[in-house]
Amino acid sequence: MRAYQMTGWQQPPEFRDVEVPEPGPGQVLIKVAGAGACHSDLHLMEWPPGTFDFPLPFTLGHENAGWVEALGAGVEGFRVGDAVAVHGPWGCGRCRACRLSEENFCENAAQIGALGGGLGRDGGFAPFMLIPAARLLVPLGGLDPVEAAPLTDAGLTPYHAIKRNLHKLVPGSSVAVMTIFSTRGESSPRVTSITPSRSPSFSSCGSLALTITFVATSTAIPPLGLA
Ligand SMILES: [Zn+2]
Ligand SMILES: [Zn+2]
Repeated sequence: MRAYQMTGWQQPPEFRDVEVPEPGPGQVLIKVAGAGACHSDLHLMEWPPGTFDFPLPFTLGHENAGWVEALGAGVEGFRVGDAVAVHGPWGCGRCRACRLSEENFCENAAQIGALGGGLGRDGGFAPFMLIPAARLLVPLGGLDPVEAAPLTDAGLTPYHAIKRNLHKLVPGSSVAVMTIFSTRGESSPRVTSITPSRSPSFSSCGSLALTITFVATSTAIPPLGLA
């Protein structure tokens, strides 16, 4: 199969012919339906050697969803053809952080030498992708895996932030939504007002909530000066 791979640091990725992997015990092969391109992919291409100890080459693409193509021995809970999303961070699965479903904080990350598929291990910029453990798959049910792929990173990141603070987000509470957006060739955003406010839920822990308003402008983003 053709895979879009990082073959060297600070070099453009290349399409290369690679073998379709076979799932070993506990592993799952998925047929990729969608693989999102992330800003982090650009950072990967720009990083100098030594920034990460990722072994080269590896296939890019860390926002992935697809259908189960083949199951390794011992995998239960999935059938061939199931639509699945692939959780991005791949930890050891055994340490305290991993058992709390926080594989992005895996205590054995240094020994693993990779952060996940597309980040040191083969990712989804290929027709097929090998998932090292079924626990990293999320059943999508009737959700289209093509549309679901970006949820595994672009969706999971804000979800993670909201989920951890959900107990504070009661009616009447204030939150700060930091949104920086810019489209090539169009105007850049600018902070126009910052309004400190306190809500009963926030004041109980002494935190300050800020309401920040952005407008599109043709001028550059000024320093926020919030320190
Ligand atoms: Zn990303
Ligand atoms: Zn771990």
